[in-house]
Amino acid sequence: MAHTPSTASLDHGALFIVSAPSGAGKTSLVKALLERVDRIGVSVSHTTRAMRPGEADGVNYHFVDDAAFEAMIARGEFFEHARVFDRYYGTSHRAVSEKRDNGEDVILEIDWQGARQTRAVCPDAISIFILPPSREALESRLQGRGQDDDEIIARRMRDAVSEMSHYDEFDYVVINDDFDEALRDFESIIRAERVRRERIGKAQAALLEALVTS
Ligand code: GDP
Ligand code: ADP
Ligand code: 5GP
Repeated sequence: MAHTPSTASLDHGALFIVSAPSGAGKTSLVKALLERVDRIGVSVSHTTRAMRPGEADGVNYHFVDDAAFEAMIARGEFFEHARVFDRYYGTSHRAVSEKRDNGEDVILEIDWQGARQTRAVCPDAISIFILPPSREALESRLQGRGQDDDEIIARRMRDAVSEMSHYDEFDYVVINDDFDEALRDFESIIRAERVRRERIGKAQAALLEALVTS
């Protein structure tokens, strides 16, 4: 059976959208968060960009060619997809539902176009935008990461300003200056969203009933 996107998110794990200009620290923050918070996973996207040194297929991304990606679009297999830096990136329905249907919360590390598409099908999604402390810091992080050549870094810096201009479409904004402080902010958002009354009402229905029934 084909997967259809679930919009009744309160019956499932929560959906967190994390966006940032390339190099702001999104991947590092998400990785550190996963070591501190249980019952949360990251959706593994599909992409047509080249694999970086140290990346593995099926771990960082599912690396596919244009024809395979376009065939997935034609079959309606994407929850959202977009062109970023002239490459395809997309989240499959399967990447989201595998975790979410088990009650795990899911993080989507996607660009602002994907964030828009996700909000349209899943209005309960919680969105977080990560910003660098300055443009200079962003460039030096892209260089310091040491995984992209100069031309790719220049392209990413050019696109960073337009990506950052979308910060005001997001529920939360985290400035990643001091890493540990940014991580604490990020973790606080996840934990606070988990204990919202409407979410607790579903997750702890039996307990709440036992406590308040006279
Ligand atoms: P990095 O963020 O600098 O590590 O670079 P990546 O190549 O991993 O990601 C490039 C861009 O594609 C970023 O803006 C990501 O947020 C975006 N991106 C990654 N995965 C997805 C996805 O599944 N869907 C969408 N829409 N965008 C994605
Ligand atoms: P993104 O996934 O947003 O492209 P990364 O997580 O790959 O970003 O981070 C880009 C680079 O910046 C990495 O080399 C990372 O170690 C570094 N970095 C991340 N956060 C900080 C920070 N708060 N201070 C200094 N360097 C950082
Ligand atoms: P990178 O190529 O550096 O791994 O990622 C570059 C950008 O692509 C990042 O800003 C990342 O958020 C975005 N991206 C990665 N995967 C997806 C995806 O599945 N969908 C969308 N829309 N953007 C993605």
